[in-house]
Amino acid sequence: MSPIRLVIVGIGKIVRDQHIPNIEKNPRFVLAGGVSPHSILEDTPMFKDLDALFASGTEFDAAAVCTPPQVRHGLARQLLLAGKHVFLEKPPGATVSEVEDLAQTAKDKGLSLFASWHSRQAPGVEPAAEWLKGRKLKEVEIVWREDVRHWHPGQEWVWKAGGLGVFDPGINALSIATRILPPFFVRKADLEFPSNCEAPIAARIDYELDGGGPMSSDFDWRQTGPQTWDIRVDTQDGGALRLSKGGTELTIDGHAVDVGPEREYGALYDRFADVVEAGELDADVRPLQQVADAFLLGRRIETEAFYDPAR
Ligand code: NAP
Repeated sequence: MSPIRLVIVGIGKIVRDQHIPNIEKNPRFVLAGGVSPHSILEDTPMFKDLDALFASGTEFDAAAVCTPPQVRHGLARQLLLAGKHVFLEKPPGATVSEVEDLAQTAKDKGLSLFASWHSRQAPGVEPAAEWLKGRKLKEVEIVWREDVRHWHPGQEWVWKAGGLGVFDPGINALSIATRILPPFFVRKADLEFPSNCEAPIAARIDYELDGGGPMSSDFDWRQTGPQTWDIRVDTQDGGALRLSKGGTELTIDGHAVDVGPEREYGALYDRFADVVEAGELDADVRPLQQVADAFLLGRRIETEAFYDPAR
């Protein structure tokens, strides 16, 4: 097959850090253009919005929508209705219904929709899922604590309604958990909102784990120093699994397992090319549903105002 001509919509941090280098390395793609209100990519045809892109007559097959989540649905819908395959950065939308609408639209149009979950491509995740298959679980603990000032300097949208706040990284943990664990259900959630923000800075959640014991997650954006992205699973037969550093390291019963190097976005673009070639839909909403459930059941606690010198 000839390479997929790809347009990127929303040129920001993740596009520069990951999308561009991985598209350039992948012979199954060629970059056909970019759409962004202010930012540009050198040596690439750039447009301020989708209307300008379509008016230009630029030929392309697919688009990666890498904007903040609040505007993802409208842009993705316009692209699908114009007959383009769509790659969605995570989270795939600001609400679950938006993603379901996109999946239905893609289906109706015979197009591919790929809701990407980059953390699921971390090298420890599939070996962990394999090891856990059929085991009875005793306890699960997720601790995902990082420094928002380091990872999102000056980003306004993460603090607006629909920006998800601490669930922006927390959903990465939930994308792994929904891949490796049996179904789980939010039972209690404490969400801490800074007094000057519309989205939470921390969330502590208790779940009921289908057929298993207690499960909890601790998401916090105030951690300075070493960062923590860990999932611990204790099983009833005594074995224990630990995925750390965001799924890049795996330990089983205290022994490190060799899981190979990290190539999350390389794997995402391989998967997108497979999905397009097979004419498939890959749009798992479960991580976003877990976030929505935490907001539905969550108790709102106001905490001190958040200041970021870069904002
Ligand atoms: P960002 O740096 O704020 O970039 C987002 C870009 O979207 C902005 O630069 C803005 O472009 C553009 N944009 C806003 N509204 C638009 C619209 N209506 N049409 C087209 N473009 C629009 O954010 P980011 O960190 O890259 O994050 C983007 C998404 O990637 C988020 O969903 C995030 O969860 C996900 N992600 C981020 C990371 C990370 O490490 N940062 C990692 C994995 C996934 P202008 O500059 O032109 O205004």
